[in-house]
Amino acid sequence: MSLKNQKFNKSIEVLTKSIRGEVLLDELMSRHTSFKIGGSAEIFVKPYDADDLITTLRWAKNNKMPIFVVGNGTNIIVSDSGIEGVVIKISDTFSNMIFDRNDVLVQAGVSLQKLLEEGMRRNLCGMEFAWGIPGAIGGSIAMNAGSNSRFLSTRVKYVNVVDYNGSIFKLNHDELRFDYRYSRIQDENLILLDALFELESKDFKEIEKERETSIIIRREKQPINYPCAGSVFKNPPTTYAGRVLDEAGCKGLRIGDAQISELHANFIINLGNATAHDIVSLIRDAQARVYKVKDLILELEIKLAGNFRDIRLMEKKK
Ligand SMILES: Cc1cc2nc3c(=O)[nH]c(=O)nc-3n(C[C@H](O)[C@H](O)[C@H](O)COP(=O)(O)OP(=O)(O)OC[C@H]3O[C@@H](n4cnc5c(N)ncnc54)[C@H](O)[C@@H]3O)c2cc1C
Repeated sequence: MSLKNQKFNKSIEVLTKSIRGEVLLDELMSRHTSFKIGGSAEIFVKPYDADDLITTLRWAKNNKMPIFVVGNGTNIIVSDSGIEGVVIKISDTFSNMIFDRNDVLVQAGVSLQKLLEEGMRRNLCGMEFAWGIPGAIGGSIAMNAGSNSRFLSTRVKYVNVVDYNGSIFKLNHDELRFDYRYSRIQDENLILLDALFELESKDFKEIEKERETSIIIRREKQPINYPCAGSVFKNPPTTYAGRVLDEAGCKGLRIGDAQISELHANFIINLGNATAHDIVSLIRDAQARVYKVKDLILELEIKLAGNFRDIRLMEKKK
Protein backbone atom coordinates (compact mmCIF):
# COMPACT_ATOMS: atom_id res chain seq x y z
CA MET A 1 0.00 0.00 0.00
CA SER A 2 1.33 3.45 -0.93
CA LEU A 3 2.24 5.93 1.79
CA LYS A 4 -0.62 8.17 0.60
CA ASN A 5 -3.16 5.34 1.00
CA GLN A 6 -1.76 4.41 4.40
CA LYS A 7 -2.17 8.01 5.58
CA PHE A 8 -5.70 8.13 4.19
CA ASN A 9 -6.72 4.89 5.92
CA LYS A 10 -5.24 6.16 9.17
CA SER A 11 -7.23 9.36 8.81
CA ILE A 12 -10.49 7.39 8.25
CA GLU A 13 -9.67 5.35 11.34
CA VAL A 14 -9.38 8.61 13.29
CA LEU A 15 -12.82 9.73 12.05
CA THR A 16 -14.36 6.34 12.90
CA LYS A 17 -12.99 6.56 16.45
CA SER A 18 -14.01 10.21 16.91
CA ILE A 19 -17.73 9.81 16.27
CA ARG A 20 -20.53 7.67 17.69
CA GLY A 21 -22.25 7.23 14.33
CA GLU A 22 -21.38 4.91 11.43
CA VAL A 23 -18.54 5.34 8.94
CA LEU A 24 -18.72 2.98 5.94
CA LEU A 25 -16.43 2.70 2.94
CA ASP A 26 -17.83 2.08 -0.56
CA GLU A 27 -21.42 1.97 0.65
CA LEU A 28 -23.83 1.34 -2.24
CA MET A 29 -26.10 4.35 -2.66
CA SER A 30 -28.77 2.15 -4.28
CA ARG A 31 -29.57 1.23 -0.66
CA HIS A 32 -30.31 4.87 0.12
CA THR A 33 -32.34 6.08 -2.87
CA SER A 34 -36.00 5.52 -3.69
CA PHE A 35 -34.95 4.76 -7.31
CA LYS A 36 -32.87 1.87 -5.85
CA ILE A 37 -30.06 3.03 -8.11
CA GLY A 38 -26.60 4.47 -7.58
CA GLY A 39 -22.96 3.41 -7.22
CA SER A 40 -20.86 3.60 -4.06
CA ALA A 41 -20.22 6.51 -1.77
CA GLU A 42 -16.46 6.69 -1.22
CA ILE A 43 -17.05 7.44 2.47
CA PHE A 44 -20.55 7.19 3.92
CA VAL A 45 -21.20 8.71 7.33
CA LYS A 46 -24.35 8.46 9.38
CA PRO A 47 -23.75 10.90 12.23
CA TYR A 48 -25.37 10.12 15.55
CA ASP A 49 -25.88 13.77 16.50
CA ALA A 50 -24.85 17.36 15.70
CA ASP A 51 -21.44 16.91 17.38
CA ASP A 52 -20.73 13.93 15.13
CA LEU A 53 -21.83 15.95 12.14
CA ILE A 54 -19.50 18.84 12.99
CA THR A 55 -16.57 16.45 13.55
CA THR A 56 -17.28 14.87 10.15
CA LEU A 57 -17.50 18.25 8.39
CA ARG A 58 -14.18 19.40 9.89
CA TRP A 59 -12.58 16.07 8.98
CA ALA A 60 -13.80 16.40 5.39
CA LYS A 61 -12.44 19.95 5.21
CA ASN A 62 -9.02 18.92 6.56
CA ASN A 63 -8.89 16.09 4.02
CA LYS A 64 -10.18 18.32 1.17
CA MET A 65 -13.08 15.95 0.53
CA PRO A 66 -16.29 17.07 -1.21
CA ILE A 67 -19.53 16.58 0.74
CA PHE A 68 -22.97 15.43 -0.35
CA VAL A 69 -25.94 15.31 2.04
CA VAL A 70 -28.73 12.79 1.70
CA GLY A 71 -31.99 12.46 3.59
CA ASN A 72 -34.45 9.76 2.50
CA GLY A 73 -33.02 9.88 -1.04
CA THR A 74 -36.46 10.33 -2.63
CA ASN A 75 -35.58 13.19 -4.95
CA ILE A 76 -32.09 12.28 -6.17
CA ILE A 77 -30.38 10.27 -8.90
CA VAL A 78 -26.96 8.97 -7.93
CA SER A 79 -24.49 8.22 -10.73
CA ASP A 80 -23.61 4.59 -11.48
CA SER A 81 -19.99 5.50 -10.73
CA GLY A 82 -21.02 6.64 -7.26
CA ILE A 83 -20.11 9.75 -5.30
CA GLU A 84 -16.57 10.90 -4.56
CA GLY A 85 -15.85 12.20 -1.10
CA VAL A 86 -18.11 12.05 1.93
CA VAL A 87 -21.82 11.32 1.79
CA ILE A 88 -23.54 12.36 5.01
CA LYS A 89 -26.89 10.73 5.69
CA ILE A 90 -29.21 12.65 8.00
CA SER A 91 -31.90 10.18 8.99
CA ASP A 92 -33.26 8.25 11.98
CA THR A 93 -30.60 9.42 14.45
CA PHE A 94 -32.00 12.95 14.02
CA SER A 95 -35.51 11.96 15.02
CA ASN A 96 -36.73 14.18 17.87
CA MET A 97 -39.93 16.21 17.82
CA ILE A 98 -40.94 18.64 20.56
CA PHE A 99 -44.52 19.90 20.47
CA ASP A 100 -45.50 23.14 22.21
CA ARG A 101 -49.12 24.09 21.48
CA ASN A 102 -49.25 24.72 17.69
CA ASP A 103 -45.46 24.80 17.31
CA VAL A 104 -43.25 21.79 16.79
CA LEU A 105 -39.45 21.69 16.69
CA VAL A 106 -38.54 18.80 14.38
CA GLN A 107 -35.12 17.32 13.71
CA ALA A 108 -34.01 16.95 10.09
CA GLY A 109 -34.14 13.15 9.97
CA VAL A 110 -37.83 12.85 10.91
CA SER A 111 -39.91 11.74 7.96
CA LEU A 112 -42.51 14.21 6.79
CA GLN A 113 -45.16 11.48 7.18
CA LYS A 114 -44.16 10.92 10.82
CA LEU A 115 -44.52 14.65 11.51
CA LEU A 116 -47.99 14.64 9.91
CA GLU A 117 -49.05 11.54 11.90
CA GLU A 118 -47.83 13.00 15.20
CA GLY A 119 -49.52 16.32 14.40
CA MET A 120 -52.78 14.53 13.60
CA ARG A 121 -52.72 12.77 16.99
CA ARG A 122 -52.67 16.24 18.56
CA ASN A 123 -55.37 17.69 16.24
CA LEU A 124 -52.77 19.70 14.33
CA CYS A 125 -52.16 19.97 10.60
CA GLY A 126 -52.17 22.73 7.96
CA MET A 127 -49.95 20.70 5.62
CA GLU A 128 -52.58 18.32 4.21
CA PHE A 129 -51.01 18.73 0.74
CA ALA A 130 -47.94 16.86 2.06
CA TRP A 131 -49.59 13.49 2.83
CA GLY A 132 -47.73 10.87 0.80
CA ILE A 133 -44.50 12.84 0.20
CA PRO A 134 -41.84 10.34 1.29
CA GLY A 135 -38.96 12.70 2.19
CA ALA A 136 -37.35 13.57 5.50
CA ILE A 137 -37.67 17.08 6.98
CA GLY A 138 -34.15 18.21 5.93
CA GLY A 139 -34.57 17.26 2.27
CA SER A 140 -38.18 18.45 2.22
CA ILE A 141 -37.31 21.94 3.47
CA ALA A 142 -34.22 22.15 1.25
CA MET A 143 -36.48 21.30 -1.73
CA ASN A 144 -39.47 23.29 -0.40
CA ALA A 145 -41.63 20.25 -1.12
CA GLY A 146 -45.34 20.62 -1.74
CA SER A 147 -48.17 19.99 -4.14
CA ASN A 148 -51.13 21.77 -5.74
CA SER A 149 -49.33 25.13 -5.44
CA ARG A 150 -48.92 24.72 -1.69
CA PHE A 151 -45.52 24.54 -0.05
CA LEU A 152 -43.95 23.34 3.17
CA SER A 153 -42.36 26.78 3.56
CA THR A 154 -45.71 28.29 4.58
CA ARG A 155 -45.44 26.43 7.92
CA VAL A 156 -41.71 26.95 8.61
CA LYS A 157 -40.90 29.72 11.12
CA TYR A 158 -37.14 29.12 11.34
CA VAL A 159 -34.47 26.45 10.91
CA ASN A 160 -31.10 25.70 12.49
CA VAL A 161 -28.36 24.84 10.02
CA VAL A 162 -24.69 23.99 10.11
CA ASP A 163 -22.29 25.16 7.40
CA TYR A 164 -19.44 23.06 6.03
CA ASN A 165 -17.01 24.78 8.47
CA GLY A 166 -19.05 23.38 11.34
CA SER A 167 -20.69 26.65 12.47
CA ILE A 168 -24.31 26.38 13.59
CA PHE A 169 -26.75 29.26 13.06
CA LYS A 170 -30.43 30.06 12.78
CA LEU A 171 -32.23 31.22 9.63
CA ASN A 172 -35.68 32.75 9.85
CA HIS A 173 -38.37 32.05 7.29
CA ASP A 174 -37.55 35.18 5.24
CA GLU A 175 -33.82 34.46 5.25
CA LEU A 176 -34.39 31.06 3.62
CA ARG A 177 -35.50 32.75 0.34
CA PHE A 178 -38.07 30.03 -0.33
CA ASP A 179 -39.41 29.67 -3.84
CA TYR A 180 -41.00 26.90 -5.92
CA ARG A 181 -38.89 23.78 -5.08
CA TYR A 182 -36.14 26.08 -3.83
CA SER A 183 -34.53 27.35 -0.65
CA ARG A 184 -31.10 28.91 -0.22
CA ILE A 185 -30.01 25.70 1.57
CA GLN A 186 -29.51 24.22 -1.91
CA ASP A 187 -26.90 26.81 -2.92
CA GLU A 188 -24.94 27.61 0.20
CA ASN A 189 -23.41 24.39 1.55
CA LEU A 190 -25.77 24.28 4.51
CA ILE A 191 -27.07 21.23 6.34
CA LEU A 192 -30.41 21.49 8.04
CA LEU A 193 -30.41 20.29 11.66
CA ASP A 194 -33.94 21.09 12.77
CA ALA A 195 -36.90 23.33 11.98
CA LEU A 196 -39.73 25.01 13.84
CA PHE A 197 -43.11 24.46 12.19
CA GLU A 198 -46.27 26.31 13.16
CA LEU A 199 -49.22 23.98 12.59
CA GLU A 200 -52.93 24.73 12.50
CA SER A 201 -55.53 23.36 14.93
CA LYS A 202 -57.94 21.06 13.15
CA ASP A 203 -60.42 18.33 13.94
CA PHE A 204 -58.85 14.84 13.96
CA LYS A 205 -61.60 13.39 11.73
CA GLU A 206 -61.16 16.18 9.20
CA ILE A 207 -57.39 15.62 9.03
CA GLU A 208 -57.93 11.86 8.69
CA LYS A 209 -60.35 12.40 5.82
CA GLU A 210 -57.93 14.74 4.04
CA ARG A 211 -55.17 12.17 4.46
CA GLU A 212 -57.30 9.40 2.95
CA THR A 213 -58.38 11.54 -0.01
CA SER A 214 -54.83 12.65 -0.66
CA ILE A 215 -53.47 9.09 -0.54
CA ILE A 216 -56.22 7.77 -2.85
CA ILE A 217 -55.45 10.53 -5.38
CA ARG A 218 -51.72 9.73 -5.25
CA ARG A 219 -52.41 6.01 -5.76
CA GLU A 220 -54.57 6.80 -8.79
CA LYS A 221 -52.25 9.35 -10.36
CA GLN A 222 -48.70 8.31 -9.44
CA PRO A 223 -46.82 5.07 -10.21
CA ILE A 224 -46.00 4.51 -6.55
CA ASN A 225 -45.64 0.74 -6.95
CA TYR A 226 -42.36 1.21 -8.82
CA PRO A 227 -39.07 2.67 -7.59
CA CYS A 228 -39.08 6.33 -8.62
CA ALA A 229 -38.12 9.73 -7.23
CA GLY A 230 -41.23 11.86 -7.62
CA SER A 231 -41.50 14.57 -10.26
CA VAL A 232 -38.53 14.69 -12.58
CA PHE A 233 -39.11 18.22 -13.89
CA LYS A 234 -40.40 21.42 -12.32
CA ASN A 235 -43.70 22.70 -13.65
CA PRO A 236 -43.21 25.58 -16.10
CA PRO A 237 -44.86 28.85 -14.94
CA THR A 238 -48.18 28.43 -16.78
CA THR A 239 -48.66 24.69 -17.23
CA TYR A 240 -47.78 21.26 -15.83
CA ALA A 241 -44.61 19.40 -16.80
CA GLY A 242 -46.64 16.15 -16.91
CA ARG A 243 -49.06 17.66 -19.42
CA VAL A 244 -46.39 18.95 -21.84
CA LEU A 245 -44.45 15.68 -21.62
CA ASP A 246 -47.66 13.81 -22.45
CA GLU A 247 -48.48 16.15 -25.35
CA ALA A 248 -44.93 15.71 -26.68
CA GLY A 249 -45.52 11.94 -26.81
CA CYS A 250 -43.15 11.00 -23.98
CA LYS A 251 -45.40 8.59 -22.03
CA GLY A 252 -44.04 5.05 -22.19
CA LEU A 253 -40.63 6.03 -23.68
CA ARG A 254 -38.04 3.59 -22.44
CA ILE A 255 -34.26 3.22 -22.23
CA GLY A 256 -33.12 -0.05 -20.69
CA ASP A 257 -35.31 -0.55 -17.64
CA ALA A 258 -36.02 3.16 -17.19
CA GLN A 259 -39.45 4.20 -18.43
CA ILE A 260 -41.51 7.38 -18.50
CA SER A 261 -44.59 6.31 -16.61
CA GLU A 262 -47.76 5.65 -18.61
CA LEU A 263 -49.71 6.88 -15.58
CA HIS A 264 -47.92 10.20 -15.01
CA ALA A 265 -45.51 11.53 -17.63
CA ASN A 266 -43.48 13.52 -15.09
CA PHE A 267 -42.46 10.32 -13.29
CA ILE A 268 -39.69 7.99 -14.46
CA ILE A 269 -39.89 4.48 -13.07
CA ASN A 270 -37.29 1.77 -12.60
CA LEU A 271 -38.77 -1.41 -14.08
CA GLY A 272 -36.13 -3.54 -12.38
CA ASN A 273 -32.56 -3.08 -13.53
CA ALA A 274 -32.44 0.52 -14.71
CA THR A 275 -29.15 2.36 -14.32
CA ALA A 276 -28.68 6.03 -13.50
CA HIS A 277 -27.31 6.39 -17.04
CA ASP A 278 -30.59 5.00 -18.47
CA ILE A 279 -32.64 7.42 -16.40
CA VAL A 280 -30.63 10.53 -17.19
CA SER A 281 -30.48 9.58 -20.90
CA LEU A 282 -34.27 9.32 -20.84
CA ILE A 283 -34.47 12.74 -19.18
CA ARG A 284 -32.28 14.16 -21.98
CA ASP A 285 -34.51 12.58 -24.66
CA ALA A 286 -37.71 13.84 -23.00
CA GLN A 287 -36.27 17.35 -22.74
CA ALA A 288 -35.34 17.26 -26.45
CA ARG A 289 -38.85 16.12 -27.47
CA VAL A 290 -40.55 18.81 -25.41
CA TYR A 291 -38.19 21.44 -26.79
CA LYS A 292 -38.94 20.33 -30.36
CA VAL A 293 -42.72 20.09 -29.98
CA LYS A 294 -43.37 22.89 -27.46
CA ASP A 295 -40.31 25.16 -27.78
CA LEU A 296 -39.94 24.85 -24.01
CA ILE A 297 -36.99 23.82 -21.84
CA LEU A 298 -38.10 21.74 -18.88
CA GLU A 299 -35.94 22.31 -15.80
CA LEU A 300 -34.94 19.46 -13.51
CA GLU A 301 -36.61 19.23 -10.11
CA ILE A 302 -34.74 16.07 -9.17
CA LYS A 303 -31.11 16.51 -8.01
CA LEU A 304 -28.18 14.70 -9.60
CA ALA A 305 -25.34 13.41 -7.43
CA GLY A 306 -22.03 12.18 -8.83
CA ASN A 307 -20.65 12.32 -12.35
CA PHE A 308 -23.04 12.63 -15.32
CA ARG A 309 -20.65 14.56 -17.56
CA ASP A 310 -21.23 12.31 -20.58
CA ILE A 311 -24.95 13.20 -20.80
CA ARG A 312 -25.74 16.78 -21.76
CA LEU A 313 -29.01 18.10 -20.37
CA MET A 314 -30.60 21.37 -21.46
CA GLU A 315 -30.47 24.26 -19.04
CA LYS A 316 -32.44 27.48 -19.11
CA LYS A 317 -30.35 30.62 -19.50
CA LYS A 318 -30.35 32.49 -16.17
C1 LIG B 1 -43.54 8.55 -4.85
C2 LIG B 1 -42.98 9.93 -4.62
C3 LIG B 1 -43.84 11.02 -4.55
C4 LIG B 1 -43.34 12.31 -4.35
N1 LIG B 1 -44.21 13.36 -4.30
C5 LIG B 1 -43.75 14.61 -4.10
C6 LIG B 1 -44.65 15.72 -4.02
O1 LIG B 1 -45.85 15.59 -4.12
N2 LIG B 1 -44.11 16.95 -3.82
C7 LIG B 1 -42.77 17.16 -3.68
O2 LIG B 1 -42.35 18.30 -3.49
N3 LIG B 1 -41.89 16.12 -3.75
C8 LIG B 1 -42.34 14.86 -3.95
N4 LIG B 1 -41.46 13.81 -4.02
C9 LIG B 1 -40.01 14.08 -3.95
C10 LIG B 1 -39.40 14.02 -2.55
O3 LIG B 1 -40.10 13.15 -1.70
C11 LIG B 1 -39.30 15.39 -1.91
O4 LIG B 1 -38.56 16.31 -2.66
C12 LIG B 1 -38.66 15.24 -0.53
O5 LIG B 1 -39.04 16.28 0.22
C13 LIG B 1 -37.15 15.07 -0.55
O6 LIG B 1 -36.74 14.68 0.76
P1 LIG B 1 -35.57 13.59 0.96
O7 LIG B 1 -35.29 13.49 2.41
O8 LIG B 1 -35.88 12.35 0.27
O9 LIG B 1 -34.38 14.38 0.24
P2 LIG B 1 -33.21 13.73 -0.64
O10 LIG B 1 -33.77 13.16 -1.88
O11 LIG B 1 -32.36 12.88 0.21
O12 LIG B 1 -32.40 15.06 -1.00
C14 LIG B 1 -32.99 16.05 -1.81
C15 LIG B 1 -32.08 17.30 -1.77
O13 LIG B 1 -32.06 17.83 -0.44
C16 LIG B 1 -30.72 17.84 0.09
N5 LIG B 1 -30.81 17.48 1.52
C17 LIG B 1 -31.30 16.33 2.05
N6 LIG B 1 -31.26 16.39 3.40
C18 LIG B 1 -30.72 17.60 3.72
C19 LIG B 1 -30.40 18.26 4.94
N7 LIG B 1 -30.61 17.70 6.14
N8 LIG B 1 -29.85 19.50 4.87
C20 LIG B 1 -29.61 20.10 3.68
N9 LIG B 1 -29.89 19.53 2.50
C21 LIG B 1 -30.44 18.30 2.52
C22 LIG B 1 -29.95 16.82 -0.75
O14 LIG B 1 -28.57 17.14 -0.79
C23 LIG B 1 -30.61 16.99 -2.12
O15 LIG B 1 -30.08 18.10 -2.79
C24 LIG B 1 -41.94 12.51 -4.21
C25 LIG B 1 -41.08 11.41 -4.27
C26 LIG B 1 -41.58 10.13 -4.47
C27 LIG B 1 -40.64 8.96 -4.52
